[in-house]
Amino acid sequence: MPLHIQTPLIESRPMSLAAGRSIWLKLDALQPCGSFKLRGVGHACELHHARGARHFVSSSGGNAGLAVAFAGRSLGVPVTVVVPETTSERARQLLRLEDAKVIVHGGSWQEANQLAQTLVGANDAFIHPFDDPLLWTGHASLIDEVAAAGCKPDALILSVGGGGLLSGVVEGLKRNGWDDVPVLAVETTGAASFHAAVEAGHTVELPALSSIATSLGAKRVAEQALECARSHPVESHLVTDREALQACERFLADHRLLVEPACGAALALAYKAEVLGNYRKVLVVVCGGATATLEQIQLWLAAQ
Ligand SMILES: *Cc1c(COP(=O)(O)O)cnc(C)c1O
Repeated sequence: MPLHIQTPLIESRPMSLAAGRSIWLKLDALQPCGSFKLRGVGHACELHHARGARHFVSSSGGNAGLAVAFAGRSLGVPVTVVVPETTSERARQLLRLEDAKVIVHGGSWQEANQLAQTLVGANDAFIHPFDDPLLWTGHASLIDEVAAAGCKPDALILSVGGGGLLSGVVEGLKRNGWDDVPVLAVETTGAASFHAAVEAGHTVELPALSSIATSLGAKRVAEQALECARSHPVESHLVTDREALQACERFLADHRLLVEPACGAALALAYKAEVLGNYRKVLVVVCGGATATLEQIQLWLAAQ
């Protein structure tokens, strides 16, 4: 049995009315650790475990680290997560709740990641947050579930950080014969590394990140993300932090689910009827995220 669950697929009445078309939701916010990450991370961890890995190492203070911690606890494999000092107290607590050993090191992710690399011994596995084919194959199960339900959309909306979800979803669309389903890939303007790559025709290292949607904060996307845009219809879209935050609040009112602004970015596009063109049936990947509280979202909104 995989570590992730099969998530509900529902038609959203309030969002369909707002967008003037049929909006469907794949509710991966309901994965046990709060985000879709468990699909790919769980798949990778199970494989490493089967090959004899005795320790998992991650350098993500966000949902990827949480998914590694959950997978390790489920498989009986100890987990170490190295996070920078900027990681919120809530995120550290969530990691400890999953029995992970949390090491706080350095002022940036780069420094935390450097230390993490030195902790990876011969029998250990380092689990990357987005750039690993094992992750993409695991994420692709999301589309297998939609295809098994016979629910083919005219277009699909998802958020892009480092591009792992995009890579997995495109892999899933291809392996289910849905090469004709376009993907609307959404980022916030302060974390638009995929947008920059599409514009430049090659991946680009952003000089800085400036979005509150920290789960979208990859300075450079995986090469595979750009490859997806070459081999599959993918449209790059941008929303503001404010739009992503407002979408979180509206989604909470509409569906009683609290998600991170990283997920709010995808929801914001679904709420914007004017950008959805002629697509009659649109599926939103509700990727979730466990690290934001309602209080934090309201504070961010007040500061916009
Ligand atoms: C990781 C994450 C993303 C972005 O996924 P990538 O694979 O990095 O593109 C979006 N939303 C949430 C909640 C995440 O945890």
